[in-house]
Amino acid sequence: MVLYRGLLKSCNYRCSYCPFSKHRHSGEELLKDREKWFQFVEKVEQEALPGDHCLMVVPYGEALIHPWYWDGLGRLSRLPSFGAVGAQTNFSFPLEEALERFFRAGGKSFKLRLWATFHPEMVTVEAFAEKCRKAMEAGILLCAGAVGAPENMALLKSLRASLPDELYLWVNKLDGLKRPYTQAEIQGFMDIDPFFYRELRLNPANPKLCAGRVFAQGDGKLGLCSISPSIKEKWDGDEPGAGIFSERISLAGGICSRKRCSCYLAYGGRKDLMNQVLFGPYPIFRIPRRPKAVFLDIDGTLIPKGSRQIPQDVEEDLAALAKNGGTYLLFATSLPLAEAKKRCGKVWHLFCGGVFAGGAHLRLGRFSEKGREMVHPFEGNRLIPAINALREKLEGRPFRLLVYREKGAVYKISLVRPAQRPWEEKEAGKIAGILKREWDGEGIRVFTEGSCMQIVSAAAAKAKGVRQICRWLGIAPREAVAAGDGMEDQEMLSLCQGINLSEKS
Ligand code: SF4
Repeated sequence: MVLYRGLLKSCNYRCSYCPFSKHRHSGEELLKDREKWFQFVEKVEQEALPGDHCLMVVPYGEALIHPWYWDGLGRLSRLPSFGAVGAQTNFSFPLEEALERFFRAGGKSFKLRLWATFHPEMVTVEAFAEKCRKAMEAGILLCAGAVGAPENMALLKSLRASLPDELYLWVNKLDGLKRPYTQAEIQGFMDIDPFFYRELRLNPANPKLCAGRVFAQGDGKLGLCSISPSIKEKWDGDEPGAGIFSERISLAGGICSRKRCSCYLAYGGRKDLMNQVLFGPYPIFRIPRRPKAVFLDIDGTLIPKGSRQIPQDVEEDLAALAKNGGTYLLFATSLPLAEAKKRCGKVWHLFCGGVFAGGAHLRLGRFSEKGREMVHPFEGNRLIPAINALREKLEGRPFRLLVYREKGAVYKISLVRPAQRPWEEKEAGKIAGILKREWDGEGIRVFTEGSCMQIVSAAAAKAKGVRQICRWLGIAPREAVAAGDGMEDQEMLSLCQGINLSEKS
């Protein structure tokens, strides 16, 4: 995720509170900004980056009134390694001309994203809403927003009413308010922006979630995000092999000394679960993805590694998604339903079923109501003597045997080791082989997750369960988001819009 802030410190608007409205650039200064931007674009083009990236221009003032930014964004959008490019803007640029320039540079409109800010001193609600509509008709993805000044509450409500429902209108907290918002103000802004509460959180800094981020500035400075300190290396250095990203930015990993990620450009760009669930693979653009369903693994995903509970911020975001997004929240876990309930008690009421026991038990419907269920049993009782024989062979490497039954039929068997002595890969493979031989058939699936070896019917898998639940819901799996962190999740992640939280991703 790359943010770029050039040399500009100026704007065509004259808002009374803004320092950039007072400053005008000379022709020479503008030329310098243009040169620097093109130097940056060339550097990015030359550095053949693996993977999927996005780039957002975050100027001091307004950049998109200058045609060179459209040329550069068009060029960057052609790169296969960039899935999204865009900018923050006051939305005052001439839309048709700008898009023409973008397309002439080879721009791909499906990659273009705009973050359009409403400036009540400079533009009317009607004119701003009309421009948003035109951009949407042109197929441009965008969000709109404004600063949450309490005196503008009524105006922002009328803006919300004038915009198409599908266009997200965000409200930023007003930094200069010098007092906390009242409950009535918070509620008022929440009615406009269901995610306004995220602006009011403290968001403790966590640079681990910022690996791979780059904030590049027109003077060559590099950092992780727009509020973190810069590193001493510069992106425009001419030493051989110098790149914008690669090694030099990995140096930045340890340099964030901030206590808080105090604005959206900071916290909204972190690679955390709910940023991606709510705002997609490029959350920095603040465009909600509004999936029809979300399937969430529990251990290592909803409950972070090393923790025993769902973080408070995740809980709040899930509540907002369930309330506002018209989204089905579903589990996708190897845990049996009763165990999932114990771990996720606080958010249990927000969910309406899921894939349990590694796909051996499916459920759709609120847990307080009678739902739709499917269980994949297998003749697990036949395996138990073989497992007990194994126990003797593995003396000194003990495990607990847990057998899960539904109406008397076995649907999952777990061989559980102490957390500090998990199954080793080789040993697990050997045991799986023995059990399958003992079973003498194709009907079981054995997989290992850390300290648990799981045995289920061969018909049971998370991806198969997700497919079945989507069928019940009448939606395509691609309309759903799935998040997970383990091998067992991979097929489900490729079936849906996947969020891979494994350390290797
Ligand atoms: S301040 Fe910026 S770099 Fe530091 S943790 Fe927050 S988002 Fe990451």
